[in-house]
Amino acid sequence: MFTIVTRLLFTIINRLKFTFVTDILIMIDFASIYNSSENPVITYRYNTYSVVESYFKKLVKDVKFSNSSLEVLGTSVLGKSIYGFKTGSTGPKILMWSQMHGNESTMTRSLFLWLEQLREAQLLKNIQLYIIPVLNPDGNDSWIRNNANNIDLNRDARDLSQPESQILKKVIDDYQPDVAFNLHDQRTIYGNDIGTKAMQLSFLAPAGDMERSITKARLKSMQVINHIVSNCSKMSYSGIGRYDDAFNPNCVGDSLVSKDIPVILFEAGHANDDYNRNTTTVIMAHALNDAVQFVSNTVEADHPDLIVKEYEQIPNIASSYCDIYLKNVPSQKHRVDIAIMYKELIQDDTLYYVPHITSVNDKTIKNGHRVVDLIQYQLEDLDFEITIDQKIVSPLLDINSFC
Ligand SMILES: [Zn+2]
Repeated sequence: MFTIVTRLLFTIINRLKFTFVTDILIMIDFASIYNSSENPVITYRYNTYSVVESYFKKLVKDVKFSNSSLEVLGTSVLGKSIYGFKTGSTGPKILMWSQMHGNESTMTRSLFLWLEQLREAQLLKNIQLYIIPVLNPDGNDSWIRNNANNIDLNRDARDLSQPESQILKKVIDDYQPDVAFNLHDQRTIYGNDIGTKAMQLSFLAPAGDMERSITKARLKSMQVINHIVSNCSKMSYSGIGRYDDAFNPNCVGDSLVSKDIPVILFEAGHANDDYNRNTTTVIMAHALNDAVQFVSNTVEADHPDLIVKEYEQIPNIASSYCDIYLKNVPSQKHRVDIAIMYKELIQDDTLYYVPHITSVNDKTIKNGHRVVDLIQYQLEDLDFEITIDQKIVSPLLDINSFC
C-alpha cells in the first residue's frame, strides 16, 4: 500500500515541479537539485515523522560534517524523539529550529535541501550551527499547528508548560547562540494590503519590548533580512513581505530579542498554484544559504538609519488573499463575492486540500490565488454542492478536493 501511495505521490509531485528562470549568479543551483530529487522528505509537504527522523539521521551521518554531534534532546508529549544537531568549531553561533508548528514543513524541507549541499559549498568555515529540524513531531504527524496538548509552542515562551518548549529553552540556555533562525510556514491568506501580490515569503526582525526599540540585536536581524530580501526578490515570482512587529513576550523570538539575541523569523509562503510549495522550498534554501553566509562574514552596522529604512521598505503583509475567489456569484437577491480556502487533511499519509467557503462579501479579501468571475452566470447554471460545514464542490468550475 505504501509503495503504491509513494509512487502516486511521485507522479503528482513530478507534475507539479516547476521551471525556474533566473539570470542571477548563485553559487548553488538549488532549483536543479530540487527538481532532480526523488526524496519525498524534500519534495513533498507531508511525511510521517518516522520517515523524516530516519532521513535526518542518515543525512547528518552521510554528509560527514566536521566537529559534529547528533543527540536526542528529549521527547514530545507523545514520546517522539526530538533531535539536536551541532556542527562547526569557530565563528558565530547560529541556532535554528523548524516546525515548532507541526503543519509547517516547507522550511524544514529548505533546511534539508541546504544541508545536503553544505559539503560542496564549504560553508562551515567560520560558522557554528545548532539545528533542531522538527520541534513539534506530534503536530507534524497529525498535521496541526499546535502540539499534542493543543498548545501553540510559539506562545509558550514564558509559561514553558510543554516538554517541547522546555527542550528549546534548555538548548538556548546551554548553547548561547549569537543569532537565532525561527523557521515557519505562513498560510495562503497573505498578500500585500492592496491585494495585488501574494506574499510568497515573509520575514520579521521581532521586537524585544513594547516600544519596539531598535536595539543592537534587532538591527542585526534587520541587516540579515535586508540581505536575504535583496537576493531573493530576484527569484520570487510574487511578493516578499514583512510581519507585524508588535511585541509578544510569549513568542520565542520576541523573548530572545528581549535578551539581546538577534532573531530572524522566516515564513515560507504561497503564491499561485504552488500548493506543494516547490518554488518556495527552493527560494528559502537560497535564503538560508544567504543568511548563514552573511552572519559568518558580517561586520558591525555602520549606518543604522539606512538599515532600518531599507527594512521598513519591505511591504507589510495583510490577510488580503483567499485560495479561490468567486466574484459576482448569483444569489436569490443580488450578486456576492465568495472566498474559498482549502482545509488540509491527512488520509493514508497523503495530504488533501479540501475547499470550504470561509466568507461572503468580506471586504478584507482583495484577491485569490485563483479568481473566477461569474458575472455571466445565473443561479440555475451553476452546480454548487455545499455541505453543512461549508465544504464546496463544483465540477463545472473545477472546484474539488485534490492531493
Ligand atoms: Zn508557524
